Amino acid sequence: MDKNQKLKYIFDAIRKAYPEKTLVFNDGSPDADIMIIGEAPGADEERLGKPFVGRAGKLLNSTLEMLGWQRSDFYITNVMKYRPRDAIGGTLTPSPQEIEKFRPAMEKEIEAVDPKLIIVLGRIAMAGLGIEGTMAENRGKVLEWSGPPSPSGSGRARRKILITYHPAAILRNINWEAVFREDLAKIAELTK
Ligand code: URA
Repeated sequence: MDKNQKLKYIFDAIRKAYPEKTLVFNDGSPDADIMIIGEAPGADEERLGKPFVGRAGKLLNSTLEMLGWQRSDFYITNVMKYRPRDAIGGTLTPSPQEIEKFRPAMEKEIEAVDPKLIIVLGRIAMAGLGIEGTMAENRGKVLEWSGPPSPSGSGRARRKILITYHPAAILRNINWEAVFREDLAKIAELTK
């Protein structure tokens, strides 16, 4: 199976598990060396069917563009593939149970894309990959993550992970913007 077939297989399995949900799967390029993982789609993403197309997405795009990158340089996804909602249609933070439910698919998705570097945006994405610790402890760190087995069959793939703030957190606290940009500036070095 090639990458697109593997991703389609994963998407179809999620579709089957959540037939009643509006799913938001991925954007960017499956051939990218860098994968960006967020939390869950919001209302804009649900409407447009792509991750990170609302306010947080615009901030992410503009920060990456400032650093010389384009959206197509990345494979972009979320831990949860549908918008967690409350009873009156507001967007909720995914629960630990919801994150756990999506974890096997998330690992398979990483395996299919096989990126060199994973950028983890915020605490929920961190939990989605089973990374322990708080944002305060992990932000700005580059970790080695033994993810799912590598497609080459050489055991568990070791991937670099860069942990930074979620762009929605920057919208709430603009003082963190410079640090967010500094963290993302490490991408160039990490993908050399
Ligand atoms: N926040 C996320 O985590 N993902 C999106 O796609 C949009 C906002």
